[in-house]
Amino acid sequence: MNTFEELGLHDNILKAVQELGFTKPTPIQAEAIPVLLSGTKDLIGLAQTGTGKTAAFGLPLLHLIDATQKYPQALIICPTRELCLQIVNEINIFKKYISAVHIVAVYGGSSISTQIRDIKRGVQIVVATPGRLIDLIERKAINLEQIKYLILDEADEMLNMGFQDDIEFILQNTPKRDSTWLFSATMPPEIRRVSSRYMQKPVEITVGKVNTANKNVDHQYFVTNAQHRYEALKRLIDFNPGMYGLIFTRTKIDAQEISEKLTREGYDIEPLHGDLTQAQRDKVMGEFREKAIQLLIATDVAARGIDVQGITHVINYELPDDVEVYTHRSGRTGRAGKTGVCMSIVHMREIGKLRQIERIVQVPFHKLEIPSGKDVCRKQFYYFMDKLLQTDISHGDYATYLPMLQEKFADVSKDEVLQRVAAMEFDRFLKYYENAEDLNLRERSRDSRERISATRSEDGGRRREVRGREYSGSGSGNYSRLFINLGTKDGFYKASFLQFILDLSDLKKEVLGRVDMKEMNSWIEIDPSAANQMIQAIDGKKYKGRRIRMNDANSR
Ligand code: AMP
Repeated sequence: MNTFEELGLHDNILKAVQELGFTKPTPIQAEAIPVLLSGTKDLIGLAQTGTGKTAAFGLPLLHLIDATQKYPQALIICPTRELCLQIVNEINIFKKYISAVHIVAVYGGSSISTQIRDIKRGVQIVVATPGRLIDLIERKAINLEQIKYLILDEADEMLNMGFQDDIEFILQNTPKRDSTWLFSATMPPEIRRVSSRYMQKPVEITVGKVNTANKNVDHQYFVTNAQHRYEALKRLIDFNPGMYGLIFTRTKIDAQEISEKLTREGYDIEPLHGDLTQAQRDKVMGEFREKAIQLLIATDVAARGIDVQGITHVINYELPDDVEVYTHRSGRTGRAGKTGVCMSIVHMREIGKLRQIERIVQVPFHKLEIPSGKDVCRKQFYYFMDKLLQTDISHGDYATYLPMLQEKFADVSKDEVLQRVAAMEFDRFLKYYENAEDLNLRERSRDSRERISATRSEDGGRRREVRGREYSGSGSGNYSRLFINLGTKDGFYKASFLQFILDLSDLKKEVLGRVDMKEMNSWIEIDPSAANQMIQAIDGKKYKGRRIRMNDANSR
């Protein structure tokens, strides 16, 4: 069909569409709208975002809804609050000339009582994220008895985010549902399963190319001894300096302990698991979303439904038992057209499980070596040098300092300056890795594999003492040590940074000891009697719209 007029929509809907400037239906609209208006019950629309699928289900829904009845008749389930709001906004525009139809957005992270009030006012269409909807069902704040139309938008994303059970629960709790419209960009086997269980002879419409798996994710694995997992994790983090990552563990205890250990060693990481209160979890999530935390270590249950843009790496500290769980985990990266990496740390006994996942996910996994200490140092070194070269010196009055600098460095060659800069940044790091052992577990012949356990205990006994990164730990001398989530990436140089923290806290330079600035975070030595004043003045303030976190590095 070439025009909206031919589709059979009410005039008051057509009027709004015309005002929007939509001249002709997109392919998914041209195919889906007549099918849905003709009374087809179930439909699967395979279409990416941006194809006009919101109108493909929104326009026929408005046509079919009984505006005289003031109870929920249609439920649109989508994975994120952003999409939820987007759908509501769009449908609100489509229904400009049907004032009797009311629509409400129901999503987590926003006041539930306001949403309950809105529902009670009498709405016909509810657009919800699964978690919050279940919350409302459990509080008996929403009645799904009369829901006739159930729309699942971005169904594959919802499954990726771990909402499978919630979706099935919703499908089972909409007894009067006679139409289910499912939209998805991909068609993984789980969606086929849901559709065959809960839909009757659905009409299938495909627009564009459909992927079976997310091709934007590179699946990598690293083989090591179980006792080297933690070291391997550190190597992988250190080898990827720009990582904005999500690490998965199987247990709460692992998430908590690894987080504490990594924090002590200077990494910017927080745990997310079920032993934290809801408020603590919301805080951690908020900070991670704002990139105020670089790494999050979570259990599967706690990470369920989390929607964070731009995650560069997902790391499986251990492989999950379930293939579906692997899909949820890896689906947290490589989103919205971006590429991502999903790394798994495995030991020999898990290789079989890995092959099984690989077969079901239908994408090849790449076996990579755990980087050596030298590789890590080289990578960090180049990363630092690139940063040095890219540092913006256009602002600030550096030229005025040049004569003074030239005089100071008159007898020092450029090579020496570079070496000194490198030493300043890398000395401790190089020391940490200078004796680092090879963490890769090499594939061996059966014979030698049988000897592994013996070798392991010998290795354990002979293992070289590897020095900690020493970023944290108590401050030197009589100083306390504070952590702050600001660093060179925020555009600070040491002088401007000192000025900033001293001005905010109204303290004098004399209270400070050594200040160790890194890209994302810094560590400040401070006279213990001034530490609280500084924390109170700075923690929670905003810098360029981002919340500053400052705390005692030793009690983190
Ligand atoms: P969606 O795939 O629903 O996210 O839609 C993507 C964008 O296309 C939205 O901004 C819609 O407003 C717009 N759009 C939807 N249908 C049409 C159409 N027939 N003509 C022009 N733009 C459209």
